[in-house]
Amino acid sequence: MRSNATSGIGAIDIAGTQSRVTELSWLTRAENVAPSTGTSVCVIGGGFVGLVTAACLAQTGHSVVCVEKDAQRAADLSAGRIPIYEQSLPQLVRANLERDRLRFTTDLRQAVAGQDILVITVGTPSGADGRADLTALDTLISDLGPILAAGQIVTIKSTVPVGTAARVRRMLNPHDDGAEPIPVVSNPEFLREGTAVYDFFHPQRVVVGASCPDAADRVVQTYRAGLARPAPIVVTSNETAELIKYASNVYLATRLSFVNELSSVCDALAIDIGDVAYAMGLDPRIGAEYFDAGPGFGGSCLPKDLDAFISFSERNGAKLELAPAVKAANERQLERVLAKIRLAAGGSLAQQRIGILGLSFKAQTQDMRDSPAKSIIEMLLQQQALVQAYDPVAMDEARRVLPQITLCHRAEDVASGASVVAVMTEWPEFQLLDWRLVHDRMLRPVIVDARNHLSPETLQRAGFEYIGMGRR
Ligand code: NAD
Repeated sequence: MRSNATSGIGAIDIAGTQSRVTELSWLTRAENVAPSTGTSVCVIGGGFVGLVTAACLAQTGHSVVCVEKDAQRAADLSAGRIPIYEQSLPQLVRANLERDRLRFTTDLRQAVAGQDILVITVGTPSGADGRADLTALDTLISDLGPILAAGQIVTIKSTVPVGTAARVRRMLNPHDDGAEPIPVVSNPEFLREGTAVYDFFHPQRVVVGASCPDAADRVVQTYRAGLARPAPIVVTSNETAELIKYASNVYLATRLSFVNELSSVCDALAIDIGDVAYAMGLDPRIGAEYFDAGPGFGGSCLPKDLDAFISFSERNGAKLELAPAVKAANERQLERVLAKIRLAAGGSLAQQRIGILGLSFKAQTQDMRDSPAKSIIEMLLQQQALVQAYDPVAMDEARRVLPQITLCHRAEDVASGASVVAVMTEWPEFQLLDWRLVHDRMLRPVIVDARNHLSPETLQRAGFEYIGMGRR
């Protein structure tokens, strides 16, 4: 199928999404309840990864308790209130709460007692100097030390720098006799927000790193029981597993910075990036996925994992050229979007109304962590622009993290009195807006499409000036 970049407004690419929805609907039907496996799992951290992992492991047939230190969040989850927007997740959590296969608690000691496998999913955000901030992990390991029993397997699913599992192993097994009564397994997570439940049951690969083969095998079996189709399982050392996760994200970031930089070449030469990327992607060595020009990558993983990769590689003596350039190119891409908005607004942004469509870091999630939309809004505010924005699911999040902007009830409302409307997230519904209404409400009918998500022809026919990222 042709890339979104060149498809028309009427041709929304939802086929993939629809087949996933159909396929996931069997998960919650009573007759498809997997038999109990007899394995008990304690997931620690009820954030995005922890919640998806806990619900999917329960659906697999394991008995799961999820420990979340935030008492309000734990209470909400126990009552079946799901604080994140993720397809199929609410049904899965509620069904498994009802089956008593899943429960939430704040009590670590009680939750850990007697569990076969512990899965750590606490956050590892960027520290001030780009290093991964391991405070939550280290605090947790100190708490776990005195309460774990020999034979319990500790699995680190959080993204952690190379060497972290070995350090955790030494903390949990302090006797220097080579024995590993509490095995530590690295099990990096590759799910994508927006399709996380689907990804759990249909992974491209499962990576398990350990120095204890029995523990690795036990973790492999825990996942294998839930796979909807066979997947490659890579069993390796802890260090290799840790590096595979970072290397994968840095590679994805590199692809995006490449195609984004290519979009600036296309702008300079009046060539359409959609045609170039489409033809390039037909080569299986290149591939079409994750190859669309946009405002730069964001989200809770790529930027922080790129920073951490640069930091631990250089601290260990590796001299990097590419990864720092990928980061710099990403920052430049956002500046390109700002420059396009400023130019479209007539050269100055002060006191100009700018409409923003989309706030989450990508469609199908409410997650605004490191969202390009949030970054561009902060840049606009610095230049005294008046920002009015809309997102189909991230409005509560936006109220919290961007209290200075006006949030609109409907997408078309961002156009009221606006000099420019910018599309920052590729929500399918933005392709179906009432463009006549948008046109009539704007001061100047100019659209900056930072996601190359809309049809230039349709917008031009509707009387807009259309500005994309490397589009003719
Ligand atoms: P998150 O911040 O959404 O969730 C972490 C949760 O852990 C929070 O709810 C926090 O309250 C809880 N927590 C912290 N310390 C705790 C403790 N001692 N006991 C109980 N709960 C505790 O983070 P996330 O997005 O779920 O990411 C978790 C990890 O997974 C990170 O290392 C991230 O890099 C990695 N990861 C994330 C994704 C993603 O798409 N979000 C994908 C792959 C990997």
